Amino acid sequence: MHTDLITIAESKRELESSSGRVKIHIRCRKCGEVFILRGIRDVKGHVETGFRRCLCDNDKEFDVQVVE
Ligand SMILES: [Zn+2]
Repeated sequence: MHTDLITIAESKRELESSSGRVKIHIRCRKCGEVFILRGIRDVKGHVETGFRRCLCDNDKEFDVQVVE
């Protein structure tokens, strides 16, 4: 039982280091609002932040920058 717990903790740590956690800087091109979010970069280099749209309803035009 005790050994199982250690194994789970170790494999979880491995997952976190392989999928890069990054900071994302998003600026709305319509109203200029800036959002700083945490994202997770997958193996293909795509960054998922969960960010969907700005306060001004814009959900397409953003300047996105990864600030690692
Ligand atoms: Zn906006």
